[in-house]
Amino acid sequence: MTRIFSGVKPTGHLTLGNYLGAVRRWAQADQHRADALFCVVDLHALTVEHDPARVRRLSRQAATLLLAAGLDPALCTVFVQSHVDEHARLSYVLECTATDGELRRMIQYKEKSMRARAAGESVRLSLLTYPVLMAADILAYGTDEVPVGDDQTQHVELTRDLAVRFNQRYGHTFTVPRATRPEVAARIMDLQDPTSKMGKSHAATAGIVYLLDEPEVVRKKIMRAVADSGVEVEYDRVEKPGVANLLDVLAACEGGDPVELAGAYDSYGALKKDTAEAVVELLRPVRERHAELAADPGHVDQVLREGAERARGLARPTVDAAYRAIGLLPPG
Ligand code: ATP
Ligand code: MG
Repeated sequence: MTRIFSGVKPTGHLTLGNYLGAVRRWAQADQHRADALFCVVDLHALTVEHDPARVRRLSRQAATLLLAAGLDPALCTVFVQSHVDEHARLSYVLECTATDGELRRMIQYKEKSMRARAAGESVRLSLLTYPVLMAADILAYGTDEVPVGDDQTQHVELTRDLAVRFNQRYGHTFTVPRATRPEVAARIMDLQDPTSKMGKSHAATAGIVYLLDEPEVVRKKIMRAVADSGVEVEYDRVEKPGVANLLDVLAACEGGDPVELAGAYDSYGALKKDTAEAVVELLRPVRERHAELAADPGHVDQVLREGAERARGLARPTVDAAYRAIGLLPPG
């Protein structure tokens, strides 16, 4: 059976981009067709300036939202990365497989390190090595497919390179995974800055729709989205990135084609209004289910405990094999 792994970082509240680009597909398709593991990758949240209590809180909230979005523990494995030691164990071995040059070339490292420096913060070493830990997350489970948004494809490419290199040098150990991208909504843009990706860790929140935003807040953010010059509703990502983004969101919500949808509108206002309503309706059941689940943290804890146990059992043989292959003496 196909093995799928994917994750979400507790670096902020989950966004519409996370939902449309990743989580919705995990819930509606991936968990039904494969042996899928979905992880709150909390170790990755420590790669940038963080508040310990907030990371803990966001980890629980992310796990709760994954369940609220429809991940079913009877169908898939939901767990927290730091509950399974194998990720960090394997990461070290993969650090001995990767080079610093290939990590410095990662676009996200360049962007996030630049942002940290601009804010007067130092850049954590773990921000550089982050893609190696991500490779460990994926390779520990013999993963075939990694469903991710566009921003993560470069990291999955690196994971493939590391797996191939390790296998060639030390003998076949890892399955070589591939990224799968959603047909729509692979890259939802910030409503206030439609040339940059909507990201949950971004400081400016006016252009970000969070899954737990109240309907009124969702409406306001979408109605105030930056529109482009001109009046004609056209799908042109280069000339009209703001309008194209709204069309992408509406198409992702309603299942249409953004280019065709453009033809149905003769004003930005009407497009915004329909997009706002579509998003409010899309998020309504997730918010409602989240409220129910949040009232029963014991249930979420139990799901995470059982998920971690299963994940550990799956990862350990692969990580042990990697340790042996690279030359480490097994304990007697
Ligand atoms: P951060 O700003 O901390 O990187 P993020 O919003 O990018 O947060 P991640 O935890 O890095 O979220 O990614 C979780 C999943 O959501 C990944 O599969 C990623 O590709 C996808 N994703 C993130 N942002 C978007 C977006 N704007 N559009 C579509 N998919 C997205
Ligand atoms: Mg990201």
